[in-house]
Amino acid sequence: MSILDDKKKIVILGGSYGGASTAHYLLKHAIPKLPDPKSYQLVLISTSSQTMCRPAAPRALISDAMFPQDKLFVSIPESFSQYAAGSFVFEQGTVTALDHENRTVSVSLAKSGDSSSAELKVAYHALVIATGASTLSPLLGFIHDEVALKSSWAAFRTALPKAKHIVVTGGGASGVEVAGELGEHLNGRAGWLSSTLSNPKVQITLLSGGSRILPYLRPAIAQTAETYLAKLGVRIVHNTRVTTVAPAAAGIEDIATNATLTLDNGETLQADLYIPATGAIPNTNFVSDTLRCPDGRINTDVSTLRVVGAGERVYSIGDASSAARPAIHNIISMVPVLCANVKRDLLLAAGQSAQVAGEDRIFKEDTRETQLVPIGKSKGVGAAMGMKFPSFLVWLIKGRDYWLWTTGNLWSGKQWTKES
Ligand SMILES: Cc1cc2nc3c(=O)[nH]c(=O)nc-3n(C[C@H](O)[C@H](O)[C@H](O)COP(=O)(O)OP(=O)(O)OC[C@H]3O[C@@H](n4cnc5c(N)ncnc54)[C@H](O)[C@@H]3O)c2cc1C
Repeated sequence: MSILDDKKKIVILGGSYGGASTAHYLLKHAIPKLPDPKSYQLVLISTSSQTMCRPAAPRALISDAMFPQDKLFVSIPESFSQYAAGSFVFEQGTVTALDHENRTVSVSLAKSGDSSSAELKVAYHALVIATGASTLSPLLGFIHDEVALKSSWAAFRTALPKAKHIVVTGGGASGVEVAGELGEHLNGRAGWLSSTLSNPKVQITLLSGGSRILPYLRPAIAQTAETYLAKLGVRIVHNTRVTTVAPAAAGIEDIATNATLTLDNGETLQADLYIPATGAIPNTNFVSDTLRCPDGRINTDVSTLRVVGAGERVYSIGDASSAARPAIHNIISMVPVLCANVKRDLLLAAGQSAQVAGEDRIFKEDTRETQLVPIGKSKGVGAAMGMKFPSFLVWLIKGRDYWLWTTGNLWSGKQWTKES
């Protein structure tokens, strides 16, 4: 199916938690309620033709045997084949420019395994920006597509058996999870009576970059995480940051190379493998600075999820948006709100009265302490809705399969069967 010129295009950029969910919800609950549903087409554009359970990356990067690969990666076109012909189209490509004055997006269509590329310009009637955020390390999600991700995992796995010292930077959940998974895989776990693993086979250093790890959680929980990491042979260094990396491509473009890391205390570390799991970089460089916050996220109204200053019917959701802390539970609660407001705006644009279109729906972020952090295959720390969870519960909910039990319903759209 291709993009049809005679239809009004609802364009969604990014095919992950925010973009794929919004697409299912609009196709199920918004477009069918418009006066002439057949006059609309939903266009989903993403660099990768697959969705992935991104939280699983810290364990998945070690080996394909860690997870069933057909559940970890799911085809976007197949997930959307359930909708009527002509109502949905997927384009694999990278959005290179948003012209919000003229209401178009430019896309570089570069198919996996094909060196040719073509340019596409799509005029949108409504637009949802859900292009998420990237980590410096390409091991932790789609910087490009599934082919690139799997090739960086392959390079890492080839180098892993020879590594004697691995340095991970970033004291947030990603860094802690990566260090924990590698620690357990390479070193095993110290016995009940030992607080640390003495003489680990592989030295793993986690540079937290601050005075503690896991800043979203209360200090006592972070302290428990430190004790679990010590049992896996992970050494944590606080208040120290990497200032230079030689060669500069280490850990970013060249996954498998040895690196010399110069620290801000003047010391150097030699790493056989270096994994920068530090703060996320919003994928928004195709958007004018006038629509972005200083941190690079799309300047989004925290209540309505409309993009501030972008013109009519432009919205943002997920890690690309400034509306909430980047986390999947926030995206799940944003989807029905964003889609209700898209529906309302489309009804008004189709000439329906304000009474028929109804009021704006308002998003309110749940800011209670919520984060679950597995530490290896059997332990974990965390809290949800302000309540501290015991290690067993963290394992049960997340550590067992890193949320893979949730993504089947999300990618297939079953999660959104009912309008909520
Ligand atoms: C290692 C790790 C573990 C995590 N664990 C958890 C967890 O346990 N719980 C939790 O709540 N959150 C977790 N997160 C955060 C969670 O993954 C994100 O909040 C979530 O993935 C954001 O979804 P998104 O749809 O906004 O964007 P993303 O998942 O970042 O996806 C963005 C999509 O847009 C595409 N894209 C990017 N740029 C362009 C472009 N220019 N043109 C077209 N397409 C583009 C990408 O290919 C991708 O498909 C974790 C993150 C990481 C890195």
